[in-house]
Amino acid sequence: MSNFDIEKYSYENAVDFINNNVDAVLIVDGEANKYIALHKSGLFSEFIPDKGIYKDLIEKLWYHFNNSDETVAEGYHVFMPTSGKFQGKYSKRINISVDDITHIVQMTIYPIEDGEVYLFILDELDKSMFIDEELTTKKVAAIQNTYLFSMYIDLVKDTTSSISVTEISDEVMNQQLKYSEWRMMIVNMIDEKDKPLFLERTDPEYLKKNFAPGRTSSFDCLMMNLEGKYIWVKLIFCRAETSNADDFRFVFMVQNIHENSIELLQTLKKYEQLASRDSLTGIFNHGRMETEIGNAITMKKAHNNDISLMILDIDFFKHVNDKFGHATGDATLVQFTNIVSGYINGRDAVLGRWGGEEFVIVWYDTSSEEAQKIAEDIRSTVAAEKFGNIGQITCSIGVTTLNTADTFDDAFNRMDRALYNAKSSGRNCVKSV
Ligand code: GH3
Ligand code: MG
Ligand code: MG
Repeated sequence: MSNFDIEKYSYENAVDFINNNVDAVLIVDGEANKYIALHKSGLFSEFIPDKGIYKDLIEKLWYHFNNSDETVAEGYHVFMPTSGKFQGKYSKRINISVDDITHIVQMTIYPIEDGEVYLFILDELDKSMFIDEELTTKKVAAIQNTYLFSMYIDLVKDTTSSISVTEISDEVMNQQLKYSEWRMMIVNMIDEKDKPLFLERTDPEYLKKNFAPGRTSSFDCLMMNLEGKYIWVKLIFCRAETSNADDFRFVFMVQNIHENSIELLQTLKKYEQLASRDSLTGIFNHGRMETEIGNAITMKKAHNNDISLMILDIDFFKHVNDKFGHATGDATLVQFTNIVSGYINGRDAVLGRWGGEEFVIVWYDTSSEEAQKIAEDIRSTVAAEKFGNIGQITCSIGVTTLNTADTFDDAFNRMDRALYNAKSSGRNCVKSV
């Protein structure tokens, strides 16, 4: 049994004890955004400057940035406690890493004025707390990977509550923010292209109209994370179950879906490529070229710029197959494609395989004269090229230039007629219609 006599222990003794044992006491003016350290010892002697900016202090104490030079992205500052007021006494356990050692600190905040003047008391806990805290931190980290942010919303009162930014803090924030204000702040963190969608879906009127009680719905967009990098997130709204038609309370959550989204987008891109590419030559296929010609016709009508079309057909290609075999024929088609591709490089033009040994090119910003000149260059280059053991091959080319009144068939038939003229004029030549 201890022989400590608590009867003899006075309030002054207690104050003395606190004076000698509490690690740091700071006085903070939230409105003026500054603080002064009244007393510092232990861990805090170095970690906290004697005086400084309140926001910097909060970043150090509150978020996972006390171990690095990183700072919280500008847009998120509104979710830091500096932007709200502490209504009453507030206490929180925080982890502070210094030189890779984690210290568990109890932080207590006392509002001492009506304004935003607070007393911060910081005290490092005993090491025995460490294991428990470490486990909790790991659990929180697992959740953080998925859910970044959550809060309750009451649209009728225009309030938010229990905001928690799990990415930066495992704790619910104690601040007052109107839903309408929150919405106009967070829109700054949404990627420019997704802002209209965000504003539409978070509009109180939209939410009231589209959510029956208990209904959950979501949409995806690119949103800035804490480090200022845009990531894919799912924004989820869930209306509370209620029998009162005028009760519009919601839970709002932001889920990090970045990794999955990136993978999905890459897969889609791959399929999009497969669907639009010719497997032998890798250039666009027939379907994709139909789309391209359609787009060119639309563009011609809208802007009346010079656009020319070209069809190239290898002469007597059937002989190549018959004499040298299909595999050699295939290799010839690839070599032919490479030559033609060389003429596309650096120009605004799109090349595709129309089928068999026929190729089509859409030339943007290219007049009839220019297109005929390019066609002649291609023709002569092909004629001069040596195609393996086949030796020389030639091609015939039909050229046409779009009119604003053209339909797809008008333009295509002219180009085809030009090719027919080239074939019937003895092949290995360019004709235009
Ligand atoms: P023309 O000068 O009149 O164009 O004569 P051509 O022999 O080139 O024309 P035709 O349309 O009679 O024959 C085209 C040939 O192209 C038929 C086919 O054997 C060959 N061909 C079509 N697609 C492929 C392919 O993918 N690979 C190979 N190796 N040959 C193909
Ligand atoms: Mg042909
Ligand atoms: Mg041919």
